[in-house]
Amino acid sequence: MSLSLEEKINMLPSLRATVEAHGLMAKKALGQNFLLDRNITDKIIRLSLSTQNLPDYRGAYVYEVGPGPGGLTRAVLCAEPDKLTVVEMDERCLSIMQEIKDKVGERLQIINGDALKQNFAEYDTPPRHIVGNLPYNISVPLLVGWLKKMESFSSLTLMFQKEVADRIMAPTDSKDYGRISILSQLICKVEKLFDLNPECFVPAPKIWSSVLLFTPLHSGLSDKDIAGIERLTSLAFGQRRKMIRQSLKSVPDLETICNKLEIPLTARAEELTPAQFLALARSL
Ligand code: SAM
Repeated sequence: MSLSLEEKINMLPSLRATVEAHGLMAKKALGQNFLLDRNITDKIIRLSLSTQNLPDYRGAYVYEVGPGPGGLTRAVLCAEPDKLTVVEMDERCLSIMQEIKDKVGERLQIINGDALKQNFAEYDTPPRHIVGNLPYNISVPLLVGWLKKMESFSSLTLMFQKEVADRIMAPTDSKDYGRISILSQLICKVEKLFDLNPECFVPAPKIWSSVLLFTPLHSGLSDKDIAGIERLTSLAFGQRRKMIRQSLKSVPDLETICNKLEIPLTARAEELTPAQFLALARSL
């Protein structure tokens, strides 16, 4: 009788034993704060799937950024994806990934490289899901890259520093509201799964973290819309405290466009909703 992926994964040594056996000391430069508690990694995947009304990842391709010692990797595999592709920059983690592959076979693909250079949208076929306890120093550029191709993905389940997660979810006219809130909220439904205190990680960082689930809104944004939104939000939030009359003064026919859209020229960047930024971008 063949074993399930979960049974094969459960035959591996514990995460702590694995880290010890491989002498995997965390490197700050690679943003390494490991999750060694299977209760937590399982909870991330369980909550992500149940929030999406999915029983598991059967029939889907999953991409994990920065598997490190493999806690989330194990949890994803237990949910039976057709294939899990992991992208890890740190060569020291490759032998750990190989040990998992020895148990689960071709279901696990290992890429030694930079996640910023991978175009998951062109790998395999839909449905595609991305998961990751992201290296904090590149979490926003990674997210922006995936948001721009969100039509290719069914979900992103991502761990951020809580401060970054708060910015992503911030409502209009709040202190955390900014460029990443607008792009995220125009393209995705964003839900917080839960917060994690620093003690959940090894080594413990100074700050809290949050797991967010992004699912596409299928809002039909074109590449041109996104480029326009990026340009406008860069100008407007570059001078956040100024009225848009000033911060967007380089936009041709600004007054006519704002009058038509009933956006007051006296508004500040943080008072404009994501939908208003989109309407402005479409009027350029
Ligand atoms: N997933 C593991 C866990 O939860 O224990 C590790 C998470 S740790 C916060 C981030 C991981 O991303 C590290 O394993 C690090 O080596 C890896 N990493 C850092 N920069 C990367 C990059 N540009 N591309 C791929 N992986 C990267």
